[in-house]
Formats: sequence, structure tokens, C-alpha cells
Amino acid sequence: MSTVVKKNIHFKIDGKEVSAPEGTVILEACKQQGYEVTNLCYNRKLKPFAACRTCMVETWTNGKKELVYSCTQPVADGIEVKTNTEETDRYNKACLEMLLVEHPLDCPICDKSGVCPLQDNTDALKLYNGRFEINRRNEPSIKTNPIIEFYMNRCIMCGLCVRACDETQGVQALDFHKRGMKVGIGTANDEPLDCEFCGQCITVCPTGALMDMTSGARGLAAMFTNTHTTCNYCSWGCTVRLESKKGQVLRIEGDEGYNVGINEGNLCAKGRFGHGIIHNQDRIKAPLMNFGGTFKEVTWDEAIKTIAERFQSTVNRSGPDSIAGIGSEKMTNEEAYLFQKLFRGHFGSNQVTNLANLRAPYVNQFMVDCFKNGIHSKPVTELERADVVLVFNSDLPSEYPVGGNSIRKGAVFTGTDIIIANPRYVIFNNEARTDIRLTYTHGADLAIASRLARIILDKNLVDTAKIKAAVPNFDKWAESLKPYSASEAEKMTGLPDEILTQAAERFARKADRFIIIGNDILDTGQGEDVLKALLNLSILVHSGGKGSISIYPPREHCNSQGVNDMGVTPDSLPGYQSPEDPAALDALAKEWGVASLKFSTENLARDLFGNCVKGKIKLLYVAGEDPVQSYYKAALAKEALQTVPFLVVQDVFMTETAKMADIILPISTFAEKDGTYTNMTRHVQKVASATLPQGESKPDFDILLEIAEALGKPFPVASVEEVQQEIERVVPIYRETLPGDESKQWMPAGFAAKAEFQICQPYNGTKEEKAYPFRLQTSNHMFHIGSYTQHAKALVDIGPQCFAQIHPEDAEKLKLQEGDHIVVESENGKVEVAVKTSYVTAPGMVYIPKNWPEVPVNQLRNGQEGLVPIKVSKTG
Ligand code: SF4
Repeated sequence: MSTVVKKNIHFKIDGKEVSAPEGTVILEACKQQGYEVTNLCYNRKLKPFAACRTCMVETWTNGKKELVYSCTQPVADGIEVKTNTEETDRYNKACLEMLLVEHPLDCPICDKSGVCPLQDNTDALKLYNGRFEINRRNEPSIKTNPIIEFYMNRCIMCGLCVRACDETQGVQALDFHKRGMKVGIGTANDEPLDCEFCGQCITVCPTGALMDMTSGARGLAAMFTNTHTTCNYCSWGCTVRLESKKGQVLRIEGDEGYNVGINEGNLCAKGRFGHGIIHNQDRIKAPLMNFGGTFKEVTWDEAIKTIAERFQSTVNRSGPDSIAGIGSEKMTNEEAYLFQKLFRGHFGSNQVTNLANLRAPYVNQFMVDCFKNGIHSKPVTELERADVVLVFNSDLPSEYPVGGNSIRKGAVFTGTDIIIANPRYVIFNNEARTDIRLTYTHGADLAIASRLARIILDKNLVDTAKIKAAVPNFDKWAESLKPYSASEAEKMTGLPDEILTQAAERFARKADRFIIIGNDILDTGQGEDVLKALLNLSILVHSGGKGSISIYPPREHCNSQGVNDMGVTPDSLPGYQSPEDPAALDALAKEWGVASLKFSTENLARDLFGNCVKGKIKLLYVAGEDPVQSYYKAALAKEALQTVPFLVVQDVFMTETAKMADIILPISTFAEKDGTYTNMTRHVQKVASATLPQGESKPDFDILLEIAEALGKPFPVASVEEVQQEIERVVPIYRETLPGDESKQWMPAGFAAKAEFQICQPYNGTKEEKAYPFRLQTSNHMFHIGSYTQHAKALVDIGPQCFAQIHPEDAEKLKLQEGDHIVVESENGKVEVAVKTSYVTAPGMVYIPKNWPEVPVNQLRNGQEGLVPIKVSKTG
């Protein structure tokens, strides 16, 4: 909630006393109070527009009547609003009649039929016979891009698509074109649509003028079965509506209803068009067993029995620590909980982890340190009411696209200040009055966060005496900021101090603040210190400033947060309890019905792949991950999987990792299972099945139950609900958040309070390397994440090819043209890729997305910490 407090306005609607915050338009107030007012062009996420003129109401002030458009007129103290009077109906009807002159009567084959406000309003105003002569448009449908169809005959010129594209997405790919009777919606010069393909235009279009071509199905909305669930791609955690027909999930929509999830119906291309992974021919169809290098189909019974026997014999022979598991950041919470329970409860092995934790265990510690300092962070639904948002090394439209939508809304409706700190000049168009860009030297993240803190201190922008009293090691920490003087910081970051000062002042003022951190900080080589420095910045305003601070750990996948919450990490039991805490172990043993729990103190999972190579791990169970493709030490991961005597992999598709397995189990996608995911801001949200498991696949949940049963020790819980009840008993922070229907944020409890600044290592800069003059930057592409999206046809259609992005000045020096092929080489390996030039990329940097198996950028890094020095040469 913004620190700017809005007055509550008291007024009447149709005789009832109501109130609404100052600035609320009458139409919105009516909706919130359950009064129906006809309208076609209003959307609470967008600025008032008043295009359709069908929302007229009467207002009465001191006995004086006025007819006003309710979508633009704000509420006022003491007025009475009258909806649906004889006079307003007459006006609204006249405007609607004119729209219907052009509108085709093809409702039976229209995607919006049944959820169409034009139908609803026509019915509400009883406008069954118009007075005007029908004059339909007769334009062909436009299909010049792979996924959005334009059928302008149905367009009512409400402008919602144009405004959503501009205000929500910041893209402006659509606009009104031509004039008078010929006016229409389209792209500049009728070029094929080339945008972020978020599809918000489809959601907001009331009439089916813009349609999703990826579904391959048309027709009445009522013919589809709707399932509300949570997107399975990034960690933002959008609620999606899976629309299915005859057991097939055909399309995905956002739900703009009130209090549905955290995203107000906004989705990105991945969430909306990434359903191609569900009914997909390339899925692993049946359990496979490796016979001397050849995979043969086996029955589930055979596969499960073999796995159980190998588990048992390995533990008997080599002890519990010889078995290890990598849990997926795409498993549900319930599956993740059972996964670690299988290892810990059945075998006494604490060797469970997940790929994110394996690389950066400090991310969990950062979150816990925030709690210890009393920084609990607000629900992310408050982001749109922030006074200031600091986006730290995240390319929002690619990494957390819908987070970007909320921030843009805040800029329009709350006046949010936006500060974007990034070594790339990332595109984030928005309407903020204050939009500060800190485009710093590649790798200087720590210096930026530290300099901002020092400016706040030096300029007394917070109450230092208060902080000193609250945080014991203040002096020591303040001393550690000495190297970040204005002149030194300028050398480190390449930024003049004025702009950093401006950012520090906006951040430190009385404000509700949010910090959104990108996963790219992990590649700086000082990720842990960058997080500490951002926490210090937060402690500074938390302890000595006015307002609030919310800061979330960077997470990548849909359940990267939950898999850690559920204890799929060797460092903590479910709920971040210590695996060395006797009381926690006793409580868990009691719950799990085992005599006692005690784990060896050897943390083999901390260097899991290294310990596979050393022969300490004899059985590795990889559940839904592809470390060969996605882990930053790709060669080590590959060697580990080759070395480990028995490898089980369960996944949806045949990955590079699966190809190395002894047994492969086909698992179901998110659309075929039930449970919950927890997003990066700790909102626990429902996952609901919209179709049956495809082929012979099974949800991870069922597989884990079957393995436990084959071991002769079945879990006493058999349903998702029962596991949720157990989670609530074992993980106190999850109490009253499950089953997740309402998207509740879990609140920290049981974390010992300890106010403490984090002392960081000094910023270590980057060294010049003549042989490798460029630095590599990698992250997820706007249309791809993880290993699944390359199987979603629509996403491949709009994001078909990997490319290396190079600054135009560097391209000129290297005599490279757009589309040329280059070899990018580090000391660790090389890849070949096409070139794109862009001013988004900084000079000296080469940006390559990490989502194409044929361009394995992780091999360039291969475990190297920090920015990877590379060289570039033209092929041929
Ligand atoms: Fe899914 Fe993330 Fe896109 Fe939301 S922003 S639709 S969670 S991929």
C-alpha cells in the first residue's frame, strides 16, 4: 500500500450507502458493490477511455441531476448514483445500437460467445431489434503472425487492445489506423505483428476480434471446461485458466476476475501459449529401461520394482549417504515434500537437493536473513501500490513479465518511481514520472548496491541514530562501505554519482518500496555478496526510514521457492528447520512413524556431482531436471551422470540427462496433476488437473507413493489433501495457506530475530583478458525457460532461433552483419550462433539466451564463477 493515504468517499448507489477510495470511478465502485452497469471499453487495469459510451449513469448532487459516463467520472462525497434509469438505458441503448450495425451475428463460432459483454449488454438493455440499417464490415481475417488472429469485422473500436498493449505491456504494437468509417485496429503499415506476444489483447478484447490461433479450436466459451491452476513456467506464479474440450487442453487464458491469484489476468507468452507441451507427440510414453545402451519399454511394475530393489541394495551395501536425489523446481509442494521424505524417512539419507540450491545455497540464507532482520515483505499484489520499485539486474519482460505489468500499473495509478539497475539497457517502457536507469559496468552489481547504501548514510537520508540503536554491528558495516566513495564508485560502476544519488534519494524517502532481484546476479561471481548488499540497503530503510520495504529472493522456476520450503536441500528440513536440530528431528520422526532420525554430518549433496564422480554416490534419482543442459557446471554434471552406478530420471521429455539414465519414468505435466506451487513471493497457489495423465505418464506424486509401497513401507498418506495436512503439521509457516485456493502468502514464523548488517567481501572488479576481450551474459529468452518450452510449438514459432546479441559498435569493429554466424569461445568451450545487433547489450558484452540445446552456453561457463571472458570470431 502506498504511503499516500487516499481519503474514503461516502456516497449512495441506487439508495444504498457505500464508500470507495478517492479517485475511484463510478463504474468501478458499482462493480465492487455488485451493481451492473453496461460498458464495453472499461478495464480496471487501464486508464479511463470512454470510447463506447454505453456506461451512462445519473448522479444527483444537492437535488441536481447530471448524466455522466461512469467509467470516467470519479465518485464524490454525498452524491447519489442511479444506475439503469429509463433515461440512462435510452442513451446507452442508442450507442449500443450503433455498434450492432456493424457487428456480425456469428456468435456460435466466436471464441468470446458466452463471455461476451456485447451479448450481455444487448440482453441487459433488451436490444433485440435495432432501428438502423445493418452495414457489416466484410474484411478477411488476418493471420500474418503465428499465434494471434485479427478478425476486424467483430471489432467495436473499444481500444482495449491498443491500451493494454501500451499501458500494461509497454509495447505499442497496436494502434488505431485510418479515419472515419474506415478506422480500424492494426499494426503500423499493416506489418505482421511483431511484439512480446503476451496476448493481453486477446484477454481484454470483449468480442473475439482478436483470437488465439494456437488452440486450433473455435467456438462458444461455454463449450470449454475451465480449470483454474498456476502457470508452470517462471516463478512469478500467475493464475491461468486452462480451457479444455473432450479431455484436451486447447488454450490458456488469464482470469481478470477480482481476487483471482496475483496477476489480474495478465499472462506472458509462455504462460498463455506454452500449452503445446501437454498433448505432445514427443513426450516419453512409457517407462524405459536401459539394456546395454538401448532403451526398451517396460511396465510400471517392473520399473518401480527395479528402482525399489536398487535403492534398498545400495543402502544395504554402501549406507544411506550413498543414495541422493535432485528434486525438481517444477514439482508441486506435495511432491517435493514426499521426495525428501522418501530419502530422509525411508533411508535416513539427507542427500537431497535441487539445482538452484546446488548452485547458490546462499539464496535461502538470504531469505532467512531478511526474516531475522524483521523484513517480511508484503504480498506481491501490493506491488502495484508501491511508491518506489528497484528492479535489480532483471530484464523484467523476459524474466518476470507479469511483474512488469504490475509495476507499469503502479506507475499509472499510484505514481510509482521506477529504478532499473542493470548492466544492459533493458527495455522497460512505462509511464512513470521518475524512471531512473542505472546502466552500470557489467559485473559491478555489488558496487551499485553498496554505493546506494553509502549515499543514504552520507546524506543522512535515514535516521542513523535509530539504526545504530537497532542494529548492533552498524559501525563495522558502515566502515566496510568506505571503498565506495563517489569517485571510486564511479570508476567501478561507470556511472556519475549524480544519478546514483538521485536513485538513493528516491529510494530512501518515505515510501513503500519493493526490490525485485534477477537471477543474473548469480552469474556475477559475487552473487552472495550482492544479495547481502541488497539486504543491507533494505535494513537501512527498514530500521531508519519511513514506509516499508519488500524484497524477494531471485527464483527461476514455478516452484523454485516451494521445493526449498519443503526441504529438498541438505541444509534444511521442511520449513527451514536445521537437520542437526534434535527437537526438529524428533518431531519429524514422530510424524513419520520412524524410531529416530539422525543424519550424518557429511553434506555430500552440497557438491553432489563432484561426489558422484568421486564414487561416493552410488544411486542418483533426478526428478524432472536436466542438469546436463541447464546446470552451470555442465561437464561435471555429465561426468557425474556417466559415473554414478545407477541413475533414475523421471521427466516429460527425453532430455540429455534422461538419455544417460538406467531407468526413465514418464511424468505428467502440470495440467495433469493436483497440488500447490509457491511463487517467488511466497504465495502458495493451487495446481489443478485439467486432463488425465497422458499416455502412461504419472504425476511424480503417484510415482513416489508407488516406490514407497514397493519398498514395503507405504506412506500412510495416499492423497494430495492428506499430504497437505501433514505439511501443515510439519511446516508451521504453511499453516492456513493450503490448499492454496486463495493464493495466500506464507508468513515467516519461528525464525529467530537478529538484526544484523551483512559484511560483504570487497567488490572484485573484472580483469582485462586480451585473448578473451568480451564478457558473456546469459539468461532466459523472453519465450523460453527450462527444458520444456522448446517442445511448445507456439513458443518455437515466435522464438525459433538462438542468437548472440552484440552492441552495434562491437559488431562494426568485428565487421559483423545481422544474421552472420559467429563462434563464441571461452577457455572452457565454444558454441556457434547467429548474431543480432542491439543497443540493449553493452559494449564488450555478448548476450546469449540459454534455452537452445544446440547452443549449450553453459559449456562456455562450465563452472567458472564470475563473468566469463570470451572471444568472438566470424565463421567461414
Ligand atoms: Fe507464467 Fe511467469 Fe509468464 Fe506468469 S510471468 S504467465 S508465471 S511464465
